[in-house]
Amino acid sequence: MKEKKAFIRNDEKPVQKKRFIIQSLFVLLVIWIGIEFHFFINSLEAGAAELAFRPPGVEGFLPISALMSFFYYILSGHIHPVHPAGLFILTAIIAVSLFAGKSFCSWLCPIGYIVEMAGEFGEKIFGKRIKPWKWLDYPLRSLKYLLLFFFASSIFAMSAMELRAFLDSPYNIVADIKMYEFFSNISMFSFIVISVLLLLSVIIRNFWCRYLCPYGALLGIVSFLSPAKIKRNKQTCIDCALCTKVCPSSISVDKAGIVISDECTSCLNCVDVCPVKDALIVQEVITKKKIEKKYVYAGIVLTFVIITGAAMLFGWWNNQVHDSDYKRLYNNRGLIDHAS
Ligand code: SF4
Ligand code: SF4
Repeated sequence: MKEKKAFIRNDEKPVQKKRFIIQSLFVLLVIWIGIEFHFFINSLEAGAAELAFRPPGVEGFLPISALMSFFYYILSGHIHPVHPAGLFILTAIIAVSLFAGKSFCSWLCPIGYIVEMAGEFGEKIFGKRIKPWKWLDYPLRSLKYLLLFFFASSIFAMSAMELRAFLDSPYNIVADIKMYEFFSNISMFSFIVISVLLLLSVIIRNFWCRYLCPYGALLGIVSFLSPAKIKRNKQTCIDCALCTKVCPSSISVDKAGIVISDECTSCLNCVDVCPVKDALIVQEVITKKKIEKKYVYAGIVLTFVIITGAAMLFGWWNNQVHDSDYKRLYNNRGLIDHAS
């Protein structure tokens, strides 16, 4: 029988309430952006002489365009003037992942928030967490990487000139309007697909994020480069397995030395719940120093805010598409569909 260890109680305050507040603030920001964009579309539709404000933040929902713009910047050293905010949002998300792993998913992403709420709801209904069999879980997890490979390999095969041609194209310029129309005039098929995905996220925790989100796949790869990792102290750990029980990514934290996983979202649930002082910490793996939880979430938010804020401050944030171009392209968007 295992000998019971004496331990010093962990009296650090949990940070899950703060995580919820930060997530909620980002969701509110996205809703605000959505409302402003709705008024912009309304002014286009009404043929207003002066268009309403178009919020550049909407470009955060154009990941393909942002990835192309990112690669275009790497090849050419130029910030493409169409959807530059998308480029800076993607850069900020990658920087956040370099700082604290896949933390964007659990601290800032509005889709991650919805999926998490769906999972919480599911656990309340079923009274437990439903986990798919391991033999099914592994191949399903690879789906998001296949999707990422499909998009990234097509983009990385393009030259700077080809990327520029796409980024300059009417199709890319009105991609945000097309996305708006996709949701405002949603087809029955798309509605059913989204509903099924949401339902699956109620039944299986993080279904969308764990199996299908190519953005999450990209950040999972970047997260391996992050020096901030969850570290279990084997000497002081009392093997209660509470950390594993609460992990939304189904990681066996109680068996790990250092959590090195593309699924860890740095949500800090495991660190919060650990009853032993410093048995589970966030560690900077190079210097092996503990990073206080408050520095983790402050770093995540500040990294995102500083990069997007700098883009605003230096005048790189706003689209260089003139209102007259928006009016012309909006009226001809049916033709753009045919041409693409
Ligand atoms: S290992 Fe810890 S920080 Fe990572 S996802 Fe699981 S609970 Fe969150
Ligand atoms: S919560 Fe995990 S790390 Fe903390 S004592 Fe229990 S098993 Fe060990």
